[in-house]
Amino acid sequence: MNFYLRMFLLLQGVYRHAAGKTALGLLITAAYVAQAFAVAKSLNLVFLTESLQGLGGLLLFIGGLVVVRGLLHWLDEIYAKKIAFLMKSKLRQRLFLHILHLGPPYQESYRSGGLQSVLTDGVESLEPFLTSYIPQLLVAFIGSGLIAVYIWQLDWLIGLIVLTGILITVSFPLVMGPIVGRILLDYWRSHARLNAQYIDAMQGLPTLKVFNASQRKGVELEGEAWKHYRHSMEGLTITLLDSTVVKWAGAAGAAFAAGMGAWRVAAGILPLAELFVILFLAVECFRPLNDLVMYWHRSFLGLAAGREIFAILDTAVPVDGPPPAAVRKNRPQSLPAIEFKGVSFAYAGGRRPALKNVSLKINPGETVAVVGRSGSGKSTLVNLVLRFFDPQAGAIFLDGRDIREYPLEHLRDQIAVVFQDTYLFYGTVADNLKIAQPDASAAELERAARLAQAHGFIMELPDGYQTHIGERGVRLSGGQKQRLSLARAILKDAPVLVLDEATSNVDGVSEELIQKALEGLTRNRTTIIIAHRLSTIQGADRIVVLDDCEIKEAGAHKELLAAGNIYAQLVKAQHG
Ligand code: ADP
Ligand code: MG
Repeated sequence: MNFYLRMFLLLQGVYRHAAGKTALGLLITAAYVAQAFAVAKSLNLVFLTESLQGLGGLLLFIGGLVVVRGLLHWLDEIYAKKIAFLMKSKLRQRLFLHILHLGPPYQESYRSGGLQSVLTDGVESLEPFLTSYIPQLLVAFIGSGLIAVYIWQLDWLIGLIVLTGILITVSFPLVMGPIVGRILLDYWRSHARLNAQYIDAMQGLPTLKVFNASQRKGVELEGEAWKHYRHSMEGLTITLLDSTVVKWAGAAGAAFAAGMGAWRVAAGILPLAELFVILFLAVECFRPLNDLVMYWHRSFLGLAAGREIFAILDTAVPVDGPPPAAVRKNRPQSLPAIEFKGVSFAYAGGRRPALKNVSLKINPGETVAVVGRSGSGKSTLVNLVLRFFDPQAGAIFLDGRDIREYPLEHLRDQIAVVFQDTYLFYGTVADNLKIAQPDASAAELERAARLAQAHGFIMELPDGYQTHIGERGVRLSGGQKQRLSLARAILKDAPVLVLDEATSNVDGVSEELIQKALEGLTRNRTTIIIAHRLSTIQGADRIVVLDDCEIKEAGAHKELLAAGNIYAQLVKAQHG
């Protein structure tokens, strides 16, 4: 679809307001035109007639017009803000949902801060184009057009001059468009890059401090800022050139029209009384066009950002399931089995496969541990079960059904995952737990927290469950965060539980506590425990060893130890 048409369609839902704003713009132009007529008439009275009768009334009328126009301008601004607010919040919501659908892999492929820039500044910068330029387009077309026609029928030669001025005013920006567009796209990109750099530096602040690298990073950021400065100067130069030509065309058009008018009066072709009218109308004719060009320049950043926004919206969701059923089916009563059948998978950017022909069945209620060196493909198993990606060969079955047959929501609803890193949102401990189950009662929160061995430390926080995380120096240790994450998983109460290195960066005491919590948790669930530290998995029913993207061994702890292969080596390496 045409880019500009797509931009216009962003106003969907606020068309009525946009039409209202256009009508206001026309009224404002009409007020200017009425004033031009009134002033011309006053001058005719002063210079061409003997009496000044009626001059007072005219002056009063002009004064009234000025007041009314001020009022209209004020309304116009309010309308613009309202349209902008509705449009921006709708678009942000749409973008956010789409990014959610695209999932973590997409977000990781973007540099940190890049997506934020699009969501905040990018959407913000659309405002001039959508709320000022588009309505003004009609105002200029109708307003300037009608005035030009009126002048034309007063005197066709002057009409021709005015029309030429209009053509230059309208076409020059179009001719310059591609150049200006490219320069301003560079400007937007450097802006987004600078933004991303700062976010990156802020997130890595402790690392910069530790390596004494803040100075160097500062110099790097300054360099980036200078680049941005140069891009903005280029942008300024080109838009100034553009608008100078356009202003010149407007002024010259009005001046030539006046000159030609004077000549036509002298030649006796045009009545003197009409000269004043033409004089003032010619100026008014170019006013809406000048405004239009001004808004066009303000729109460039938004046009660049718009391309980026559409690029995100056009990115196809990598995996999609059938649409969720209108009525959500209850989870099955019996525990599901999970089965990998000949699964092979390679990441888009990966040079070699991450999983090769993996077949593995986890029976209902069974706890299977997956071990293996880092990079052997353990987390990839989790990414595939959650359908962040689909395998290139083979299939995964949940409860006997291919997971691609489940609506994504239903699939993910049945699986609770605890990752190595826990993200805690800004908010209270209770808010963070309720992510798993928004309508959980205080008693349910406490039960989950007790099971996860988290209740104890939560009660020691200043406000217990109502403590704001991250405020007033409330910092949680890795182990505490991990136990909150477990409590979340418990609250979700899904039949399948996946732990991906959940205890890897946790101290010994915490690990013991988590271990205890896990015993209760895995009892009634189909569980996959991925672990680096082998002490965490001895309660598992079965251990699967991944190596070099393939399953190399499977069995009970003692069997594998006795076999003396990879598992035995891993155990030996960890126990010195
Ligand atoms: P593990 O969890 O066992 O440490 P992973 O499953 O994370 O291993 O990774 C398996 C292989 O896939 C590794 O070679 C890793 O570099 C690669 N890999 C992991 N995630 C991605 C990704 N998002 N894009 C490209 N390659 C990836
Ligand atoms: Mg991993």
